[in-house]
Amino acid sequence: MQIISHLLVSPNVTRVACPKNSTPLERPEVIVMHYTAGGDGRDSALYLADKATRASAHVVIARDGQVFQLVPFNVRAWHAGAGSLDGRTNVNAFSIGVELANSGRLVRRDDRWFAWYGQEIPRAEVHTARGADGVTYWHAYTPLQLRVAARVCRLLCERYGIRRLVGHSDITSRKQDPGPAFPWEAFRRAALVEDDGPVVPADAPVMGF
Ligand SMILES: [Zn+2]
Repeated sequence: MQIISHLLVSPNVTRVACPKNSTPLERPEVIVMHYTAGGDGRDSALYLADKATRASAHVVIARDGQVFQLVPFNVRAWHAGAGSLDGRTNVNAFSIGVELANSGRLVRRDDRWFAWYGQEIPRAEVHTARGADGVTYWHAYTPLQLRVAARVCRLLCERYGIRRLVGHSDITSRKQDPGPAFPWEAFRRAALVEDDGPVVPADAPVMGF
C-alpha cells in the first residue's frame, strides 16, 4: 500500500467519489479514529459519500480489511463535527478521519447481543468492558481490520508528518467511538512514527491484533 496524489493505492482499496467535500486540508496534524456504528463497510462508505449525508470521512475500513477512500487526504472531510482538541475547534480543518466498520455499543438480551439497529452479533465478536458505569458490551474489531488500519495510519504519519492519534470521543463528549474495544496502546505502537524513526519496523508483526 502507498499514498499517491493523496490517495491510497493498493488492490484492497476502492475509491468512492464524495464530491460534497472540496475544501483544502492543508496540514493534517492528527488522525481521528471512529467507528461507523453500522454494519457492512461498503454500505457505510456509500452512506457517508452520499450528498444527503451531513458527514463523511477520508477512509472507511471494513471488517474484512477492504478499504474505501472517499476523500483525498488534501481535502477536508466532515468527520469530527462540533468539538475541540486542546481548545481548538473545527477539528476537520487539521485532521484526517478514519472510520472502522463496527456496530459500536451492543445491547444484551439474555445471552444474545444486538447492535442498536437490531442485528444480532455473534458472541465471539462481543467485547466486554468493565468501567465506571458497570459492565458494557461492544462490537470487537477484527484483527485484520486493525492491521490494515494501523498500516493506513502508519502511511499517513510518514507521508504527512503526523505524530498524534486520537478518538472521536476525545474531541466531543457526545461521542463514544472508537470505544473500549479499540486497542489504543498496541495500535499507537503499530501506527505512530517517532521523530527518530518508526516505533516498530514496518515489516515487524503487529503484536496484539
Ligand atoms: Zn465518530
